[in-house]
Amino acid sequence: MLSWKQTPTGLAYAVPAVLPQCHRAWVEIDLAALRHNVRQLRSLLAPRTQLMAIVKADAYGHGAVLVAKTALQAGASWLGVATVPEGIELREAGITAPILVLGAPNTAEQVQAIAYWHLQPTLSTPKQALICAETLTALEHPKPLPVHLMLDTGMSRQGAPWQEAANFVQLVRRLPNLHLAAVYSHLATADDPDPTIMRLQHQRFEQAIAAIQAKGFTPPLLHLANSAATLGDRRLHYDMVRTGLALYGLYPAPHFQPGATGHPTLPPLNLKPVLQVKARITQVKTIAAGTGVSYGYQFIADRDLPIAVVGIGYADGVPRNLSNRMTVLIRGQRVPQIGAVTMDQLMLDVSALPDVQVGEVVTLLGHDGDDAITADDWASTLKTISWEILCGFKHRLPRVAIPGDSTP
Ligand SMILES: *Cc1c(COP(=O)(O)O)cnc(C)c1O
Repeated sequence: MLSWKQTPTGLAYAVPAVLPQCHRAWVEIDLAALRHNVRQLRSLLAPRTQLMAIVKADAYGHGAVLVAKTALQAGASWLGVATVPEGIELREAGITAPILVLGAPNTAEQVQAIAYWHLQPTLSTPKQALICAETLTALEHPKPLPVHLMLDTGMSRQGAPWQEAANFVQLVRRLPNLHLAAVYSHLATADDPDPTIMRLQHQRFEQAIAAIQAKGFTPPLLHLANSAATLGDRRLHYDMVRTGLALYGLYPAPHFQPGATGHPTLPPLNLKPVLQVKARITQVKTIAAGTGVSYGYQFIADRDLPIAVVGIGYADGVPRNLSNRMTVLIRGQRVPQIGAVTMDQLMLDVSALPDVQVGEVVTLLGHDGDDAITADDWASTLKTISWEILCGFKHRLPRVAIPGDSTP
């Protein structure tokens, strides 16, 4: 069992018996924020619409098992993963909720593992459907395996062409051992303020469903929406939404934030970031004017400068391209990072806080006092998206769960 200790700064840490070393750097997962986000998302959904928590890529770096269990308690009813091993990890942790594998299987071995672990596969091609049916027959699988047919309505990634939906459905329904549980598609531009392409994809999805129904079959479950479509338009919710990013407390784009204007037809949600990245100061010293800092001397002190060394680097997921372009929070105050970020350590200009101490906590992402630094801030500096920032934190950083209030 985990037990928790409150420190004077209000942060809870696992007691040393659980986390033996005093970590130099770690990721905090705010379970109360996660539960809050699930409830916020549920508030947008019709009661019969299910919420699939997308927990691929170790729950966007947050820890798949922890996130899956918490999201299920708070109101999600399905889980989505990218790969078979990701699904197995959840089953091995005792999770019994339905799990969709978003990446379609191409080998009998993958199908065997899917069947054994009660995962539900995506099928994108007739070939995949045949491999699935043949493998299940060879296994003498006791009952039909639920499968989700994926249609390509404009993402040009996985999925059968939407124009072939009815034929694909016919083929799958004629195969033994497969139960056609769902038909779904994925949107390419749901986070764009211009909804034109999303509407076209929506129309194609509708047309595909109509063609399937014209052949006398109604799919038991339809799903289309990612976070942006969930936040943006109730017409895209269907029977289930597949939310990743919003679960983790980030908005897919600025126009989904409270107070923004743009295409969403739904009231904005108040989402709370779940993940924080923290590290400790490992050394404090003053360097003389003219002294270079870190590899390549990308920073040279223009005066005698108090600096702090922090025990986190690019091997932990702090992008090296943020070198000299990021600030961190200490005691609620912004402090500039200086010189190249190295593999395991980085340096700060602490002239604003000359009495900082070894062991003090530095917030790289997260909130401290009244200020906060978000994955969106890093993403905009790096010209990338917050999804990539979140997934970038490596396993060297322990994930420390902050339980928060225990109301479900
Ligand atoms: C990753 C993924 C999602 C979740 O996307 P978010 O934008 O993070 O909500 C939904 N559906 C599919 C098919 C995905 O691959």
